[in-house]
Amino acid sequence: MNDDIEKVLYSREEIHQVAQKLGEKITTDYADKDPLVVCILKGASLFMSDIVREINTYCEIDFMSVSSYGDAQVSSGAVKIIKDLDVSVENRNVLIVEDIIDTGRTLQTLVDLFDHRHAQSVKICTLLDKKERRVEGVQPDYIGFDVPNEFVVGYGLDYMGHYRNLPYVGVLKPEVYSN
Ligand code: 5GP
Repeated sequence: MNDDIEKVLYSREEIHQVAQKLGEKITTDYADKDPLVVCILKGASLFMSDIVREINTYCEIDFMSVSSYGDAQVSSGAVKIIKDLDVSVENRNVLIVEDIIDTGRTLQTLVDLFDHRHAQSVKICTLLDKKERRVEGVQPDYIGFDVPNEFVVGYGLDYMGHYRNLPYVGVLKPEVYSN
């Protein structure tokens, strides 16, 4: 599996450090706000577990599963809810934790949905921000890394269901796609 990786962009240590920094900021910003921290499955699962352990104030966590891609790499533009939240967002301060923002369509849809459900506030924390590809106006509030316009895997991000368990974010070798 590691042999399929052309280069490592962000190591486990770098991700851990960034999660610590973001967690400190979130702790300050959300003191006494009892946020509902929403993990977007499956990609954000590893980053979510880092972030929530760095939030040193009361919070609740919940999970939502959405699918935004028609196939492995091309956005279909449509966002389908596969698993909805268990907890109501009404009057809650919602913090969405995402793996990567690409076109921004997934996050824009979720922000609109939570607004529609009368959340008190909705903010976004993303491990990776691929700004170059943005088509929606959505702007994350907490960003781990600005990522170049390359298809990345690892640390929760997959290619055809694999590589989520890599403890770093990296770029696949081109021959992996042609196989
Ligand atoms: P958006 O709606 O912002 O275009 O896409 C967000 C979703 O697309 C992410 O949650 C992720 O599942 C997927 N995605 C976007 N860029 C990448 C990438 O470089 N690598 C992987 N593995 N998934 C990506």
